[in-house]
Amino acid sequence: MTDNTFASGSCLCGNVKYSTTVEPSFMGQCHCDDCRKSTGTGHISNAFFVKDSVTITGELSEYKKETDSGTMLTRSFCTNCGSSLFSENSNNNGFIGITVGTFDNNDWFKPQFIVYNKSKPKWDCMDENIPTFDAMPPA
Ligand SMILES: [Zn+2]
Ligand SMILES: [Zn+2]
Repeated sequence: MTDNTFASGSCLCGNVKYSTTVEPSFMGQCHCDDCRKSTGTGHISNAFFVKDSVTITGELSEYKKETDSGTMLTRSFCTNCGSSLFSENSNNNGFIGITVGTFDNNDWFKPQFIVYNKSKPKWDCMDENIPTFDAMPPA
């Protein structure tokens, strides 16, 4: 771990650790069926980083599933404790999404958009000032 670390985090058991050297390029939340199932709650909160700036250690398992738009989304989780950590979209090469709750300190998180609002559970209350889309806005 060097002085130029922006933020670091780990899974629940600590087997997987990661750190980033730059700030996130974009940040968002998603209420789609897949993100709700994957996280076990009302939405996923992701910060997206240039992949080259992220160092990951520890053993991960991957789960791949096609998105509504036909791209392939690979979600990675700890082989031991199952914490949901990373996601990479096949149309978004060069960026990696990291689940914000796994950062040791995540005070810096400010979602810039919310997608798949049509699948949002009633009880999952969001900041109404954040730009919100029914599904995925056109790229
Ligand atoms: Zn773990
Ligand atoms: Zn989603």
